[in-house]
Amino acid sequence: PTKPYDPENIFAKILRGEIPSTKVYEDEWAYAFNDIAPVAPIHVLVIPKNGYVSWDDFSEKAPAEEIAGFIRAVGKVARQLGLVEEGYRLINNIGPNGGQIVPHIHVHLMGGRVMGPMLT
Ligand code: 5GP
Repeated sequence: PTKPYDPENIFAKILRGEIPSTKVYEDEWAYAFNDIAPVAPIHVLVIPKNGYVSWDDFSEKAPAEEIAGFIRAVGKVARQLGLVEEGYRLINNIGPNGGQIVPHIHVHLMGGRVMGPMLT
């Protein structure tokens, strides 16, 4: 299991409005905002509104309705941004080896350019 959720992590502060963010989408389950250091013309982070560190506790502890709501929200963001036909990339970094920096589960949604092979 991952470590306990830290309510002082940066995305928790963004959800509480204590740190500003550029909102792209929001619904009952999810909040989406622009990444502060984009690596593609479109680089949005989609996060569940409740606190889960990673895939491990989200998949294990979140109610099915919440998991479905979150996945639907990711799809809605892609549609809202007009990325469905040209395609885009989703990434979820998990834990130390996955390169996860912020301990609130987040999906990177990247688009607006052709993505290369992802082997690093
Ligand atoms: P990770 O490596 O945890 O998957 O990705 C964390 C992401 O959060 C990075 O792409 C980083 O640029 C982004 N990020 C870190 N701090 C902030 C912030 O304060 N605001 C926003 N909008 N993005 C952030």
